[in-house]
Amino acid sequence: MKTFTLIILTILTLGVATPKKETIFIGTVATDTKNKDIIFGLYIEFRVDTLVIGRNIIQKDGTFKISATADKEFDIYYRAIGVGNTYVQTIKPTDKDTVSLTLKVPKEYKKHFGKTICPKCNKHDQTVPIIYGLKTIVIYTTDQPPYTTYDGYGMKEIYDGGCVTSDINPKFFCKRDKIKF
Ligand SMILES: [Zn+2]
Repeated sequence: MKTFTLIILTILTLGVATPKKETIFIGTVATDTKNKDIIFGLYIEFRVDTLVIGRNIIQKDGTFKISATADKEFDIYYRAIGVGNTYVQTIKPTDKDTVSLTLKVPKEYKKHFGKTICPKCNKHDQTVPIIYGLKTIVIYTTDQPPYTTYDGYGMKEIYDGGCVTSDINPKFFCKRDKIKF
């Protein structure tokens, strides 16, 4: 009988210790009036590498709420129809009940001697501008190396973004992180 009770207790203790804690992320998206309509309906995604751990749509008032288990570092992206996956920032693991976030869309870019700094690796040596509306020239066909360099548009390297244009589309590509931002 004693052994039986002990087993039950062990199972109960293990059962209580294992569940992962969910954190509610309450976000506010800051934007200018010009882009207000584009922001509504954008998807915010939380990702660990390519795995989506949380996703929700931005509401009319510019807010969003996502519940996720943040036991690992994860990246925030936004996307929509006609707007490619755009990296926003990386969030450190947390076990808090709620976390407030403020995102700026379109984002502001930090520069270093004219070169844009990647918000993920904080370096500028691997960033190339994304050019939209190129007609017949394809510079990068995939996000993987080797990259073709194109000597044109006054820049050594550019990333062909396709023909879609919108203010909130990503404007740069980091070859180190393979992200558009
Ligand atoms: Zn980078």
